[in-house]
Amino acid sequence: MSLLDIYVLGAPILREETRPVTEVGPEFQKLVDDMFETMYAAKGIGLAAPQVGRTERVAVVDVEGARHVIVNPEIVMREGSQKGEEGCLSIPDIYADVERAMRVVVKAQDREGKPIEIDATELLARCIQHEIDHLHGKLFIDYLGLLKRRAALKKWEKQRAGDKSLTRTVAALEVAQHHHRDEEL
Ligand SMILES: [Zn+2]
Repeated sequence: MSLLDIYVLGAPILREETRPVTEVGPEFQKLVDDMFETMYAAKGIGLAAPQVGRTERVAVVDVEGARHVIVNPEIVMREGSQKGEEGCLSIPDIYADVERAMRVVVKAQDREGKPIEIDATELLARCIQHEIDHLHGKLFIDYLGLLKRRAALKKWEKQRAGDKSLTRTVAALEVAQHHHRDEEL
């Protein structure tokens, strides 16, 4: 397995539509395994293919031990609502409250291409909705009102301090550090 670079806000790939996965061969499964490794190294609880520069419609999540590979996911039911703070591995250190459905039922395929259905609530539901958005070029900051969005982007630019790179390397070192928040998706 290997760590993948994470694309950050400003990278065009984060705004692109993904392509349905039609073949789950060894190459695809290596991508999935690398995505898990990268997500854990970056202390995230979810990671979608566009975040590592890929166009396959796949995301990985691990919320409190609920570990899922979601291939070609589709939300077939949503219920209720929840408001909570979100972050994103592609927009490090920026957090904001986002309203999401409290419960979602998702139809997808797993790492082996087998059909699965996930009935998720609370944080897992939030995480899955965030990752599925990534698969359609959408980011959590898109949900913010004009002023909050502007403030978030300003903070992002400020902490970037002129850095124009479109990827960040996840250092193995980050595994040993615990300053990263658990809510980064
Ligand atoms: Zn994200």
